[in-house]
Amino acid sequence: MASSIPSGGLLDVFGNNPYFSAGFGLIGVTASLAVLRQGAVHGVTLARRRLLVTLEIPSKDQSYAWFLQWMSTNGARRNAHQLAVETSFVRRDNGSVSSHFSLVPGPGRHFFKYQGAWFQVERQRERNMIDLKSGTPWETITLTTLSRDRKLLTQMLEEAKKAALAKEEGKTVVYTSYGPDWRPFGNPRKRRPIASVVLDGGIAEMIHKDVKAFLSGGKWYHDRGIPYRRGYLLYGPPGSGKTSFIQALAGELEYNICVMNLSERGMTDDRLSHLLNHAPPRSIILLEDVDAAFINRSQTDKQGYQSMVTFSGLLNALDGVTSSEERVIFMTTNHVERLDPALIRPGRVDVKLLLDNASDEQARQMFLRFFEGEEALANEFVKKLNLKLHSVSPAQLQGHFVVYRDSARAAVDNATDLISK
Ligand code: ADP
Repeated sequence: MASSIPSGGLLDVFGNNPYFSAGFGLIGVTASLAVLRQGAVHGVTLARRRLLVTLEIPSKDQSYAWFLQWMSTNGARRNAHQLAVETSFVRRDNGSVSSHFSLVPGPGRHFFKYQGAWFQVERQRERNMIDLKSGTPWETITLTTLSRDRKLLTQMLEEAKKAALAKEEGKTVVYTSYGPDWRPFGNPRKRRPIASVVLDGGIAEMIHKDVKAFLSGGKWYHDRGIPYRRGYLLYGPPGSGKTSFIQALAGELEYNICVMNLSERGMTDDRLSHLLNHAPPRSIILLEDVDAAFINRSQTDKQGYQSMVTFSGLLNALDGVTSSEERVIFMTTNHVERLDPALIRPGRVDVKLLLDNASDEQARQMFLRFFEGEEALANEFVKKLNLKLHSVSPAQLQGHFVVYRDSARAAVDNATDLISK
């Protein structure tokens, strides 16, 4: 039969055609590569599953911050090229600003070695997910290591926790509000000895005793269904030791401090109420410069830091503290006369105390704290100052003693510097 196809058939035609055979070759190679690739992907996935172990720490977990801090002082930070700064920042009403920076590994992938094993740590920031509670982007840290080293993961977290808690031991943690949460501000501070704040007329002992009695009297409150809280107001001129005393007291009681600024931007009645009800355990709440939030409203408006806290909101927040834990609330102000009587009525403020400019006795005691045993010079100093006629704050005295710390004699000779200021 006549055929237009040469003997050997179609395949021969193609087979003898160099272009076609190369094409088939290529298809073959590509197909086998694809199979190989898929196999490899499966293999890798399988190997990953079998050989690797991953641990996910979401940002809302307590160990998230511990681990990030731990990484900043351990392996990862040294090798990391992508760092992130975590800044704690507080602006007070009097204009003073405090901030604290810590460098932690930024979002991305980092590798580090711990106890001879390699770890991959991936910090991922979700672009579309926001933690509604704090308004910050949702983040996760994923730790990957070989299965056989899985024990080290727990060990590492344990170490991170220990390091975080050790930092707090014997120290006072200062919390500030961050959205509706309380977050530690900077590193925990060394406890200030209560005796280092010299107050007049046994005030320090009196407050200390009162707070201690309150803290041990929980049953009395619970039995009577009374909210278990106590409010203190310390008022007086700036530099008289209001804040320092509360810090020292917290240290003495082994409590932490939650500092809140009512005129803070974004603070609302609801947020305030939530914060007062959800303070970390064993903490004193400190509302600083409580007058400023309301009196300077027009001024703060102009600066664009409008606080949304209303006066009735503050009263409700104070009255609505219903947590079963004890609540010790300290308020400070330099201008007690500006406070509305409704704020300082019993139940909201149970104890009001004036911390004034230095008295003779305070000046004498402070002198002796700086210049131990120099009784005669201390008396001479006090006489020279004549505090009945002059107002000198303990903060000014402290500044003077620091300047002349090497010579008690010079501190006395230059005492009049303090009065002429
Ligand atoms: P306030 O809160 O009344 O404005 P601070 O507590 O901030 O005053 O004090 C400012 C500085 O002065 C602190 O460094 C503190 O050590 C010192 N100081 C103030 N009052 C006293 C005091 N009564 N005894 C010892 N130091 C004091």
